[in-house]
Amino acid sequence: MKGEKRKVLEPISIADIFFKSRQLEKKGIDVIHFDVGEPDYEPPSQVSRATSRAIKLGKGRYTEPGGILEVREAIAQHLNEKFGTNVDPGQVLLTSGGRMALFLAFSSLGTGSRVGIVSPDWPAYRDLVRFLGYKERLFRSSMRDKWYPDPAEFKSSGCTALIINNPNNPTGTVYGSGLLKEIEGIASEKRMTVISDEVYSDYVFGSEKSFRSILQSKDCRYVYVTSLSKSYAMTGFRVGYLVSDLETVAELEKINGLILTSVPEFVQYAVIAALECKEYVKRKVKMIAGRSRVIEDAIERELGWEFLPPEGSLYVFPRIGKGVDSERFSLELLDRAHVSLTPGTVFGSPYREFVRLTLLQNEDRLKEAIERIAKFVGSSRL
Ligand code: PMP
Repeated sequence: MKGEKRKVLEPISIADIFFKSRQLEKKGIDVIHFDVGEPDYEPPSQVSRATSRAIKLGKGRYTEPGGILEVREAIAQHLNEKFGTNVDPGQVLLTSGGRMALFLAFSSLGTGSRVGIVSPDWPAYRDLVRFLGYKERLFRSSMRDKWYPDPAEFKSSGCTALIINNPNNPTGTVYGSGLLKEIEGIASEKRMTVISDEVYSDYVFGSEKSFRSILQSKDCRYVYVTSLSKSYAMTGFRVGYLVSDLETVAELEKINGLILTSVPEFVQYAVIAALECKEYVKRKVKMIAGRSRVIEDAIERELGWEFLPPEGSLYVFPRIGKGVDSERFSLELLDRAHVSLTPGTVFGSPYREFVRLTLLQNEDRLKEAIERIAKFVGSSRL
């Protein structure tokens, strides 16, 4: 690095698309957003009530950097009930959103780390690896292989860490427990740290039992990352957490304190209230699974695009055609049909023929968006 400025966030076309969609909306044009991964529903009412109550009670103070004991206990209990684990409150660190939890997780890896990323990948992982001056190794996955990575490649890679995102953004794939156990075995044999980003772990459409968390692993070193943004529609509360061994968490708590002091106290009470809203989460997951079926049918019927039905997350990742440039497609689609989506290149250059659609509109809007796309495809020469 020697005096060089760290480079982050190379320009990506999603920024152009965003900017363009906002400009169209300013002109009064109705744009359908298939782009940002932000729930279109409100947080549970218990969360707003708990937040206002906490503010009224003067809970707007500094707290311990990792979160008050009550919140860490509530999180540990929540995870232990969900995954049958034995997480200790001291292993939990509350921080500002999944992003900050990821930043801390990555910074725990140490100088000279070589980090494996399974692509297609959420672009922040590559940005973090570059920002922290680590070496990057991409492991490509493909639709043909269910978007599963080949664990044998990890074994011989020389990686000291691996980031996985399960359920996956953008592919919607959920890793089977056999694959995860294999990854955990290789990680412990090769002493690799697994950072497991499970921000979508509530959004699994099959039976809950079919989802294995890295928290269930017995002997690999891991940092588990999650957030309240998606499960409870609390994107603007900026709150998430990580779980790792006591020693790592104690170190990361110091960095959290250095950067943040703590998550706002009243937000911590909102977290405790949110974790009790189990029925809310069940309803939302059912709704998203229903939307997924609507969009799958519409894509098959109206567009004939090739895709794997998502098993979880909030996204569908279809291939729009052989040789079709998704960046050009997205820009023209926005211009002419007023549908805003994310080109596959945002998730890695090999995915130029793919686009990512979100499941965050009501069913009528989803159908309308697919109709607009079908009309555009029918009339364009892309
Ligand atoms: N991980 C993944 C895979 C995501 O898609 C996102 C948000 N889109 C995050 C982490 C960050 O979530 P948060 O809003 O809690 O920072």
